[in-house]
Amino acid sequence: MAANELFIVTELPEGRPDRTGQGLLSYGARLSKMLDSSWRALVFSDLDQDAQQVFAGYGVPEVTLLKDAEHYFDTPQRLGRVLAGFAAEQKGGIIAFAHNDLGCTLAPLLAAHLDAALVTEVNAVSCSDQGLHLSRRVMGRRIDETRIWPQRGFLVITVPVSALSPVSLPTDAKTSLRINAYITPAEAQLADAAPNCSVIVERIPPDPRTVDLADAEVIFCVGKGCDHADFKQLSELCRLLGTSLGVTRPVYDLGWADFDRMVGRTGRCVKPRLYVTFGVSGSMHHVGGIQEAQQIVAVNSDAKASIFPNADQGFVADVQEILPRLLEKVRTATGGNK
Ligand SMILES: Cc1cc2nc3c(=O)[nH]c(=O)nc-3n(C[C@H](O)[C@H](O)[C@H](O)COP(=O)(O)OP(=O)(O)OC[C@H]3O[C@@H](n4cnc5c(N)ncnc54)[C@H](O)[C@@H]3O)c2cc1C
Repeated sequence: MAANELFIVTELPEGRPDRTGQGLLSYGARLSKMLDSSWRALVFSDLDQDAQQVFAGYGVPEVTLLKDAEHYFDTPQRLGRVLAGFAAEQKGGIIAFAHNDLGCTLAPLLAAHLDAALVTEVNAVSCSDQGLHLSRRVMGRRIDETRIWPQRGFLVITVPVSALSPVSLPTDAKTSLRINAYITPAEAQLADAAPNCSVIVERIPPDPRTVDLADAEVIFCVGKGCDHADFKQLSELCRLLGTSLGVTRPVYDLGWADFDRMVGRTGRCVKPRLYVTFGVSGSMHHVGGIQEAQQIVAVNSDAKASIFPNADQGFVADVQEILPRLLEKVRTATGGNK
């Protein structure tokens, strides 16, 4: 059954799709193939050459810029109206978001405006003569629920970020990208349409000391090879560098950090850009929680420690020798009073 068009709503933080956005484009390429449908990406700001290459790399045939939509980033209800205005001019189809902050906000708004079917956190899609089967986990993720959309009108979906992989299929056609624009209604018109909308007044980066470790960008992890003085030095280092502090189970057991700072299979599974371990042996229980770290750097005095085969870079060194020197350098570089 050929489906209607597929629209992938892609955010462009810092001008291009991030890992989640790329995952969503990869998802769009696969889903459009499965549905044998045309597809395009919807974006809220202009694409430079580099960003265009990213889209083309995922075989995106067409990008529609919702022009001036960025003016409504602080008023999600109006942004929802912009999208609905665009969608109302289409024949129908599937509009997909990542299940992140933007997707969770816009998907229900859009579905309400369009009188569309809404299925959130879709983890599997398949087709039959009855329509499109969409599966999701419910009841605290204990039950798999499947819904059928009869492929009429619009369907709005969100896809869990954890289900999005930025890997592009080798079979994805590298297309020449078509870019067009949808002119959003004048602000006054939207203000009339949603006079009571809430307005976002502040956005600040999360505090690395309190951010959920699962979302932390850079983590320094303290292992049992550190004594309490080392732990204090590493805490200061994290404060000065704006990185997050994690611990292994024995360090948690010592009471130096709360449970939410413990990394590993029992603790938090993390996916930082950089994960640096100090005096961590690399047990399977710990390493099991850091598989998705992009880069792992390990410091351990034992060259045979099992953390090393799991690390991208390893330093055989005594933390008690290197930490004071490292801290001194960072204090000098940062003025030491962050
Ligand atoms: C069911 C179960 C669940 C578990 N879940 C978790 C979990 O979620 N997270 C977790 O972390 N653990 C977990 N554990 C514990 C886990 O098995 C390990 O015991 C733990 O990860 C080891 O922590 P560590 O590396 O800090 O300590 P150790 O294994 O004691 O390693 C210390 C390391 O420090 C090095 N070292 C010593 N002195 C220095 C120095 N001066 N300079 C540099 N290096 C030095 C040593 O060479 C050694 O490799 C779990 C265990 C069980 C049974």
